[in-house]
Amino acid sequence: MRPDQLDAALAALADDHRLRQRHALHTPQGPRVRIGGRDYLAFASNDYLGLANHPALKTAMQQAIADWGVGAGASELVAGHFAIQQQAEAALADWVGCEAALVFGSGYAANLGVITSLVGRGDAVFADKLNHASLNDACVLSRADFQRFRHSDLDHLATLLQKTPARTRLIAVDAVYSMDGDEAPLRELLALAERYDAWLYLDDAHGFGLLGNGRGALAEYALHHPRVVYMATLGKAAGVAGAFVAGSRALVQWLVNSARTYIFTTAHPPAQAAAVMASLQLMGDEPWRRERIQQHIVTLASFMQDKSLHLRSSRSPIQAIIIGSNEAAVSYSMALREQGVWIPAIRPPTVPAGTARLRVSLTAGHTEDDIKALLAALDQAIG
Ligand code: PMP
Repeated sequence: MRPDQLDAALAALADDHRLRQRHALHTPQGPRVRIGGRDYLAFASNDYLGLANHPALKTAMQQAIADWGVGAGASELVAGHFAIQQQAEAALADWVGCEAALVFGSGYAANLGVITSLVGRGDAVFADKLNHASLNDACVLSRADFQRFRHSDLDHLATLLQKTPARTRLIAVDAVYSMDGDEAPLRELLALAERYDAWLYLDDAHGFGLLGNGRGALAEYALHHPRVVYMATLGKAAGVAGAFVAGSRALVQWLVNSARTYIFTTAHPPAQAAAVMASLQLMGDEPWRRERIQQHIVTLASFMQDKSLHLRSSRSPIQAIIIGSNEAAVSYSMALREQGVWIPAIRPPTVPAGTARLRVSLTAGHTEDDIKALLAALDQAIG
């Protein structure tokens, strides 16, 4: 891209209905948001448990700001690692049932840092076709031989594993796929990892807080194992920001010494740790949040049954209504918006070409009446 090409490139994106624009929220995150002077019922966030604006998290973080200040002031290894952070890492490790955990600034940073710490030139990484972009970027950056297998196709993966001459192998998957809501066949993947002597890297961004009574995919599928590396983000169901990696003490020690996105970055604000601990407390104390999401899923799925558009239903809060063309997805999204319902149209490159969709995100913050309003709006918009 040269400077004189920018305008034409943006115009081409607009022609293809792929121009992305930001819409500023004038309210906290939640089921109801104010955008551009209008109130919307929103099904767009990953704040699945409705914790991003929860009083307990806010109070915990405010108190921690009073105690610890705002900025970390240094990278973790220099002088930016705080006792409250150590406490949060111990709580996270305990919550997911691992020996140790390490907090990163974001899930993107965690994926990049961890994968490049475990594999490099001469090694091989095997990634599901529908993995999140950050995992793909991590695989490219690692310089390992990067091979993608068909979505959740264990035979295809086994064939690739069988053929690789690399001695160090890593299989990377989303535990719950971010744009479809389906789950990876994790037990079978672990069996393949064992058989072919590979690491199994799980990105549980969309399962943490939900699966396994909130403890995530490891607990749901009893996957605790030395070759499993677990990553979950803290900005989605947990309602805060950042991410953590959990595994053995040795793994975490290795990451502290080698993960470049951990080492060469200013530590995140220490007060985030207090909000994360408050979030874990609520995940344990309030199972109704997960139960309510399941009720919403049933309501939406039964409504969509006789509709012409296909709902890719799942047991996760992510419910994708597959539209197809970018243009149609945008026009459905706009039609819903006119009725005061905010559901984003997800287009390539986030999803494969020809599978543009409405990604409906059901949260514990939504009431039964909110779901009724969603169904009425969908009825109008998609018929
Ligand atoms: N992995 C997956 C599966 C995700 O959906 C996301 C966020 N969309 C990330 C990683 C990145 O996490 P973060 O937003 O914390 O950078």
